[in-house]
Amino acid sequence: MSNQSKGFFIACIGLLATISIHTGCGELRQKPNVVVLLVDTLRADHLKCYGYHRDTAPFLEELARRGAIFTQCYAPSDYTPASTASLFTGQYPLAHGYLNSHYVLAETHTTIAEIFQRQGYTTAGFIANGLAGEKYQMDQGFDHYFEKNRASAAELVAAASAFIEQQADEPFFVYLHFLDVHDPHRIPQEYHDRFADPADFAYDMQDTLQLDNFVMQAWWEAAQGWRDRTVGSDQVATYFADYVQLYDASISYWDEQLGALLDLLAVQGIDERTIIVVTSDHGEQFLEHGYFGHGNSGYQVGLHVPFIISDPLHPNIAGLQVDNLVNAVDILPTLLARLNWQIAPAVQGQERWSLLASDAPDATSESIYTEGTFMANRPFSTLIQTYREGEWKLLLDRLRDTKELYHLKEDPGELRDRFAEQPEIAARLYDKIRQYYNGNLQLFEQHQQSQMQLTEQKLQELRALGYITGRAGLQRSAKEFFPMKPVRLEQFGPFGDEEDLGRFSHAIDFFRGPVTWGQIIGGYSDRVGQRDSTGVWFDRRATFLLPNQPVGQRVVVELTIDPMGGADNPTQIEVKFNEQSSEVWALNGVGPYRFEAALPAFLQQSAFFYLTIEADSRFVIRKATSVRNDIYGAMRIRRLYLER
Ligand SMILES: [Zn+2]
Repeated sequence: MSNQSKGFFIACIGLLATISIHTGCGELRQKPNVVVLLVDTLRADHLKCYGYHRDTAPFLEELARRGAIFTQCYAPSDYTPASTASLFTGQYPLAHGYLNSHYVLAETHTTIAEIFQRQGYTTAGFIANGLAGEKYQMDQGFDHYFEKNRASAAELVAAASAFIEQQADEPFFVYLHFLDVHDPHRIPQEYHDRFADPADFAYDMQDTLQLDNFVMQAWWEAAQGWRDRTVGSDQVATYFADYVQLYDASISYWDEQLGALLDLLAVQGIDERTIIVVTSDHGEQFLEHGYFGHGNSGYQVGLHVPFIISDPLHPNIAGLQVDNLVNAVDILPTLLARLNWQIAPAVQGQERWSLLASDAPDATSESIYTEGTFMANRPFSTLIQTYREGEWKLLLDRLRDTKELYHLKEDPGELRDRFAEQPEIAARLYDKIRQYYNGNLQLFEQHQQSQMQLTEQKLQELRALGYITGRAGLQRSAKEFFPMKPVRLEQFGPFGDEEDLGRFSHAIDFFRGPVTWGQIIGGYSDRVGQRDSTGVWFDRRATFLLPNQPVGQRVVVELTIDPMGGADNPTQIEVKFNEQSSEVWALNGVGPYRFEAALPAFLQQSAFFYLTIEADSRFVIRKATSVRNDIYGAMRIRRLYLER
């Protein structure tokens, strides 16, 4: 008897003993239900079953004991859109093309929900993160759909429960995308008190504004090097210790809702024929490597995610711990293999079900490739690629042009870069990244081209029907068809041609020239990078990535300061190169400014540099009674260029 049929046999006996109303194995031959739970921003190493010292998720622990744990699963990117679409399609980010909020998941892709739909399942999605939602065409294939940005786990589980109660007699596929573990955390006090002495925690859990502020203060203070004057750097460690408690508490809040969902499946009598997968789209950095959050990292803390699968129809997998390297792009094909369904050639992930079903070693699971992150509106937006082979991991940051090599067994924290010491290993892994990247970039470009053709075809049809007349009409319609501003990937170029990294324009002219999104990499504003006829808006700080080939001698910045009011307005702007040197420009009220700064000599050694322009406080137009209701002004950067 194979493992598979043995499992089925055991499951039948178990079910016959406990569910008297069911008639026997004939009924059990109906397809199992599948529930996929994605807990946004859940670091694997903050779960006890992945070695954490706290029991943050007891219900998940119990589920993991009944199922199998993949101990070494990597998200393909540390950013929600790219990673979640990889889960849905089994493809790497460049191949599926939903890299960030400037893109959508094209309808031509076949998603996990569509596959289940075609197999006769009723499908349902419950989504708390808009980046995984309808606006980005991530709702493809769901018969029932609930999306509410920032919905709590309780809301999602309530909505899913209502669906499952209706659907209990027919096979279903349910996807839940939870956001509770993602900041800002809004959880009841009692969960927080499980991990922290309330007396040691100086924040009112009901005051979400205060929570937001403390996180933001810590972030700016520690990660960005900003000196807020109200926050001493000695407080940063305390902030982040507090923050981690809050993070863990939010896991335990989510976990209790998982418990409620598991209860419901049991009450409905379908728990014994429901496969459950738990994973995440990425981890979170708590200042390791100098950053807070996600979307900027190829380190373990950003990429190592849980992958737990429980399958009561295969009790033989219970308690298995699989240490092979796997990628979240493998989750879809693993489920397909479990269900004996065909895996389409477009799926790039490998099925890992056979790792559970047999003891045979699998040579394909000794290495992992990841490609991210493509965030277009946060500090340090870039393309980061990693390749891990055994214990060696190469990490490339294509825009910062850094190459790091780590030995994860000796150096799990990735603190000792051995790139220079191990040129042969580095070269081998480098070559692997090159192969993956060039292949995926080709898929991306083919895909973009066919999307453009489709759009042009649609426009022509509408023109022929007389819906589009004249230039103005065309512009409006074109905008409907191009809701997203594309990020220009050509700046990365085919891999291996280092000079391609130099393909930036040498001046950013916000009036005339194109704005390359990769160049505007930071600014603390909802409107960061937003452009109108007066420039690009930044509310206090703007960071740009600029080329210095050919080397310029001065940086020129033309900006306008918006109306200001009140007494606390900025009096100066500081300019920094690579955060290493600075110069201060005085502000004298509102109006246009033209500033110049000499380019420091040390930058002649690097192909690019970061330029940060930062006011000493936010531009306030009107002070309100709470910080949240203050009305802020902006500096609008009109032009930025290098001069000889
Ligand atoms: Zn996410």
